[in-house]
Amino acid sequence: MNILVIIEHKNGVMHRMSKEAIAGAQKIGGNVTALVIGENSDSITDELSSFQIEKTLLVTNEKVTSYNVDGYKEIILQIVKVVNPEFIITGHTYQARDFMPRLSASLDIPFIPDLVSVENSSFTKQIMNSKLNASISSSSGPVLISFQSASFSEENISKGSSPLEKFEVSLDASNIRSTADEPFQESASEVDLESAELIVSVGRGIEKEENKSIAFDLAEVLGAEVSASRPVVDAGWLPSSRQVGSSGSTVSPKLYFSLGVSGAIQHVVGMKGSKNILAINKDPDAPIFEIADYAVVGDLLDIIPKLIEKLKDL
Ligand SMILES: Cc1cc2nc3c(=O)[nH]c(=O)nc-3n(C[C@H](O)[C@H](O)[C@H](O)COP(=O)(O)OP(=O)(O)OC[C@H]3O[C@@H](n4cnc5c(N)ncnc54)[C@H](O)[C@@H]3O)c2cc1C
Repeated sequence: MNILVIIEHKNGVMHRMSKEAIAGAQKIGGNVTALVIGENSDSITDELSSFQIEKTLLVTNEKVTSYNVDGYKEIILQIVKVVNPEFIITGHTYQARDFMPRLSASLDIPFIPDLVSVENSSFTKQIMNSKLNASISSSSGPVLISFQSASFSEENISKGSSPLEKFEVSLDASNIRSTADEPFQESASEVDLESAELIVSVGRGIEKEENKSIAFDLAEVLGAEVSASRPVVDAGWLPSSRQVGSSGSTVSPKLYFSLGVSGAIQHVVGMKGSKNILAINKDPDAPIFEIADYAVVGDLLDIIPKLIEKLKDL
């Protein structure tokens, strides 16, 4: 079985979710080909050469030097004819949401987006606002899929060595009707939670807006970003860019430090991919403790100031 993974990259760095897509493709099993489109990709193809995959295909073409939806579609259509994949896989990024539906229409095959796991070519997708899991499989023919952030871990990528092949495409300028603007840059005041390695997350348990300084003080000592549950955002205590959950960001830090968050499913879907979860909650039956690696039952308003003092002494 052939699998094609489309790699997303920016400024010479491979997107974390593309690595997760490789891990997911390896879990499906088969001959995995990674496709890199565009210039400034040496470090990406180097990194891919250390993965246990069939090969990396590199397409550089003057008409598509960076992301362009028409160019990507045309290139992938030509690659598909050669690789003949059963699965075409990406991370469920904004870019994938742009080109995958067009690819689906052009190839006349289904696109099953935002999958969270795979077992024997059967996929799981969260439905009903993440309250239920649906099992989905394709009865025939190739299919396009995208994986939700943190559904797989780049740490589980099987390492090996794989060759790089340059692939020539012929592009008709008339097919490339759109041009991409400069990628959207978040302002410096906003955060990139999805790439953060350490996160201090606050829930309604901080009780009032003034107490959010406790989270920022802890985050400063740890070198972490601050995120929040939805009620904290709805109350206007923190901006929506800091919300984690089904209607916020999906994060997968090395440590998720949860302060006064109950662990409602809509929150948990956004952070369950964290490598370690440390939760402080005064309710010993809080659902967050079901997924926590370290559980502290107590009042965060007592614990955190003392913890900050101890950490400062280290
Ligand atoms: C369509 C929809 C989408 C949603 N999307 C999201 C989303 O993206 N993200 C999200 O987070 N939620 C989302 N929600 C809301 C979600 O259902 C929960 O209501 C929310 O996650 C609860 O936030 P919380 O844990 O901060 O608050 P609560 O559920 O009120 O929990 C507060 C916790 O703090 C503890 N606590 C209180 N005081 C202290 C203290 N002094 N010390 C220690 N612990 C204390 C309490 O025991 C409690 O467990 C969504 C809901 C809907 C319907």
